[in-house]
Amino acid sequence: MSVPRRRTLILASLAAAGVAMAAAAQAPAPVPDGPDPLTGARGRLGRDWVGRASVKADTPILVMAGHADSQGIPGSGTSGDAVDRRGARPMQAGIRDELFWNLEVARRVVKLGQERGLNISFYDPPPRTIHDGDDPRTNWSVGKAHAAAGGYALEIHFDAYGPDGIGSGVIPAFHRPFTSIDESLAVAFGGYPWQFRGGLGGPRRGITILEIGKLEAPLEPALRNPRSRERALQTITERVVAALEAGVGRQQKPPGAPLAVQVPRSAHSPVGLAPGDQ
Ligand SMILES: [Zn+2]
Repeated sequence: MSVPRRRTLILASLAAAGVAMAAAAQAPAPVPDGPDPLTGARGRLGRDWVGRASVKADTPILVMAGHADSQGIPGSGTSGDAVDRRGARPMQAGIRDELFWNLEVARRVVKLGQERGLNISFYDPPPRTIHDGDDPRTNWSVGKAHAAAGGYALEIHFDAYGPDGIGSGVIPAFHRPFTSIDESLAVAFGGYPWQFRGGLGGPRRGITILEIGKLEAPLEPALRNPRSRERALQTITERVVAALEAGVGRQQKPPGAPLAVQVPRSAHSPVGLAPGDQ
């Protein structure tokens, strides 16, 4: 039996609307549209999860810098747009720029979090290169043990520039139900599908990954320029810590709206300034 073409289209669109409405009923809190003025594009893949499991206010939170144990080997992180495509000097010799910023943000988040009374600590693996991911000193091993003991393990990342990068967002650990911390971070930064790339090594082991943003404009020049760097790092740090506080129930609501950052005009130059330049 054939159905007139026009009627088929109407039925198809009604079915699609029904699916959309059903999905909307389950959908996580919407992320504000458009790119964030500081961190740029949010992950375009969207998220397919909601963090509902509540966590205790004194839950131990372990923060780590992505790629801190994998320099000079595959998985060392992005060098960023400025170094790779625009000839800028690396922020620090011997490590990729992503690790430089991961470390900067991770340390600041822990310091501010402790000042705010969170039960939060930092782990930095002693060597910058550990070949075996399951070596007990890696982020993966330490984060996995922390999560298995009931803590919350969080690894800070910046995403790749250009078409390889997705944008800011949370890729939650999936060794247990998604939590209110996963949720508040996703409200602030956006979210990825939980099985992104088939389930990443970190989330598989119990470590939630937070992509702050792509290491390109507008974020990278704001970080690289010494005149806007401090403000940019403070804004990112505040956003993460506020989300962690909300996630453990210390605030009613995380700041979903982006915090404005004053970026000097010169920061909009594509490369920004190299470290130490003024
Ligand atoms: Zn990374």
